[in-house]
Amino acid sequence: MIALYPGTFDPMTNGHLDIIQRGATLCTRVIVAVAKGTHKHPQLDWTARFNLCRDVVAPIENVQVVQFDGLTVALAKQHGANCILRGLRHAGDFEYEAELAGMNAVLSPGMETLFLLAAPSHRSLSASVVRDIAAKGGDIRAFVPKQVADVLS
Ligand code: ADP
Repeated sequence: MIALYPGTFDPMTNGHLDIIQRGATLCTRVIVAVAKGTHKHPQLDWTARFNLCRDVVAPIENVQVVQFDGLTVALAKQHGANCILRGLRHAGDFEYEAELAGMNAVLSPGMETLFLLAAPSHRSLSASVVRDIAAKGGDIRAFVPKQVADVLS
């Protein structure tokens, strides 16, 4: 199985990294796709988010990082991915993710979405809360990889 893991990663958190690591043990290859995400008004620019993801996953042999701005299913096809990898933290994620997975399955018949439940220690962790803590001068080192903490602190 080759998985595409799309997201905004503004910034990558330990929750994202956990999904990538677990996905990489289940799949032959994981392609992390950093979305331009203009509609979400990301704080970090696209290149900074891409570079951080690339640095963080560098030690994991079967993971690569790409930038994308378009349809997730089109990118998946382009990279030969046969599933989309997503993380689920709580019921709120489920509503949104089920809608996305349903639309992607219609757009690309046969494209499965593989959901991994967030680890219990990461269920309350979101990139937006990390950005908030960092903006207020708080310590984010428990929530993000070292490379991210170094850039945001
Ligand atoms: P998007 O803009 O596509 O929601 P995000 O970068 O916010 O992108 O999230 C990408 C994926 O990672 C989503 O499937 C999201 O549910 C999941 N995710 C986010 N935070 C965590 C976490 N703490 N633990 C596990 N999965 C997470």
